[in-house]
Amino acid sequence: MSCELFERLGIAGDERLASPGAPGTITVTNPATAEPIGAVRLDDERAYDRVVAQASESFARWRSVPAPERGQVVRAIGDEFRKHKTALGELVSLEVGKILQEGLGEVQETIDIADFAVGLSRQLYGLTMPSERPSHRLMEQWHPLGPIGVISAFNFPNAVWAWNAMLAAVCGDTIVWKPSLFAPLTAMASNAIADRVARALGHPGIFNLVIGADQVVGERLIADSRLPLVSATGSCRMGKHVGAAVAQRFGRCLLELGGNNAAIIDQTADLKLTIPAIVFAAVGTAGQRCTSTRRLIVHESIMDDVCRRLVAAYKTVRIGDPLKDGTLVGPLINQRSVDGFLAAIDAAKQQGGEVLAGGAKAEVAGLRGFYVQPTIIRAPKSNRLAIASDETFAPILYVFSFKTLDEAIAMQNGVAQGLTSAIFTDSVRAAEAFLAASGSDCGIANVNAGTSGAEIGGAFGGEKETGGGRESGSDSWKAYMRRQTNTVNFGTELKLAQGIRFD
Ligand code: NAD
Repeated sequence: MSCELFERLGIAGDERLASPGAPGTITVTNPATAEPIGAVRLDDERAYDRVVAQASESFARWRSVPAPERGQVVRAIGDEFRKHKTALGELVSLEVGKILQEGLGEVQETIDIADFAVGLSRQLYGLTMPSERPSHRLMEQWHPLGPIGVISAFNFPNAVWAWNAMLAAVCGDTIVWKPSLFAPLTAMASNAIADRVARALGHPGIFNLVIGADQVVGERLIADSRLPLVSATGSCRMGKHVGAAVAQRFGRCLLELGGNNAAIIDQTADLKLTIPAIVFAAVGTAGQRCTSTRRLIVHESIMDDVCRRLVAAYKTVRIGDPLKDGTLVGPLINQRSVDGFLAAIDAAKQQGGEVLAGGAKAEVAGLRGFYVQPTIIRAPKSNRLAIASDETFAPILYVFSFKTLDEAIAMQNGVAQGLTSAIFTDSVRAAEAFLAASGSDCGIANVNAGTSGAEIGGAFGGEKETGGGRESGSDSWKAYMRRQTNTVNFGTELKLAQGIRFD
C-alpha cells in the first residue's frame, strides 16, 4: 500500500528510500500495526552542509524575485497540494496514526496557509512615519531574512512545516526543513511537492529537506549561523536546548512548544455544546495535539453531571485503525508513549486521582499497534494532582472543581505552559473576565470553543514554557523578515535629529 502511495505522491524513486534494516537508515513504523512501512537513509554532516549551501545560494536569487511573483509560486504549490490531498492525508494517517479525517484536515491546513500566503505576498507592508526634520522621509521596509531552519514535531508532520514554509517563501526566504524521525515520509512527500512546483517555475532550491539524527544534523542546524532564524516545534525540553543554542550565536528562534491546556466549564455553560467540544479536544489525535485539552476545571455545582455525561460520551468513542471509517481514536505514536501514558495514570492514582473512564491499553482486533483507552481522572477532594502539571502526550483528561471564577482562572494559569485555553459559559461577564488582561495567560483563549483546532487566520502560539513564538496568520509573517528603517533627506541641508547643532 505504501509503495502505491509513494507512486501517487511522486516519491517512489526518491533516493532516500531504503530497505528496512539497511545501515545508515531508520525504519518507519506504522503505529496502527507496529509494522514497518519503509526505511529512510539518514543525512550526515556533509549532506547537511550541501543542503544549506544550496539553500543559501537559492536565497541570493529568490530574495530579489518580486513578492507577488513569489506568491504565484506558492499559489501553484497550494494547487498541487489540493491535487494530492487524499494521498498525502493517507500518508499522514499511515505514518503517525491520525484518523484519516484529521490527516486530510492537516493537508487542508497546508492548502489554507498557502492561500493566505498568496494574499500576503501583496501585503508585506512597511510603515511610513512623519519625520521631525523638514524634507525628510522616514519609513520602514521588510526584507527577506535568509535561509531559515524549520524543526518539526511528529504530530503535525505536514502542516507545521507549511505554516512556516508558505509564509517564509512569500517573504523571500528559503527553507531547510528537519522533520521528526517519526514522520520522514510525509516530509519527503510534502517537500517534493513544493520543490517540484517551484523548480518547474524556475526556482530550484527554495524548499530543502534534511533528514538526520538530532545529535548529527539537529545540533549542526541549530548552531549554523547561515540560518538567521530557527523555527522549532516540539517539546519544552527540546525548546530550552534549541533556544539557548540559537541565542548563543545571536540567531532568532521561533519556538512552538508543549501545552497543558485547560477548559473551564461554569455553571451557566450549555452542556449540549460543551461535552462534544471537550471530547473532541481531549481525545482527538489520541490526545497528541499540542492543543489537546488535558485539564478540565468544572464548577462544583455541575461536577457530577459533567462527569456522568463525559463518561457516557467516552463509551461511544471508537478506537481502532485510523484509516477505517468510523474510527475516532487511533494509536499513540510508539511504545514509549504508551509507557508514558501508563506511568502518568499510575502516578495519578498514587496521588489520589480516581479513574472515571479508560485507564489502560486498548486492544484492537487484528492490530498490534500502540492503542490506549481515552482516560478521565477526577482529582481527589484536595483538588490537587501533581501529575496534571506535566504534559503527557496521550488522551488523559484530569478533572478539577472550582467555586469562583477567579479560582478557576488561577488554576487554569497555574502551570508552566501557556498555549491554549477555553471557557464554556453563557455569562458575558465570565467570558469577558476570562479574556481580560487578568484572565487566561495563554496565547490562545476561546469562549464556547475547545482548546484544539485553531484556524490559520489567527496568530498561533503560546506563552511561558510554550516558547512565545507566533506562527500562521495575522502578522506572524514578520518573524520571517528583517525590518529596516530608512531615512531619506531630499532637501539641500543637513538636519540632525533632536535639533542637535554640530556646526
Ligand atoms: P520532540 O521535542 O521530541 O521533537 C521535536 C523536534 O525536535 C523533532 O524534529 C526532533 O528531532 C527535534 N529535536 C530534538 N532534539 C533536537 C536537537 N538537539 N537539535 C535539533 N532538533 C532537535 O517533540 P515530539 O515528540 O516530536 O512532539 C511532541 C511535542 O511537540 C509536544 O510537547 C507538543 O506539545 C509539541 N508541539 C507543539 C506545537 C506548538 O505549536 N506549540 C505543535 C506540535 C507539537
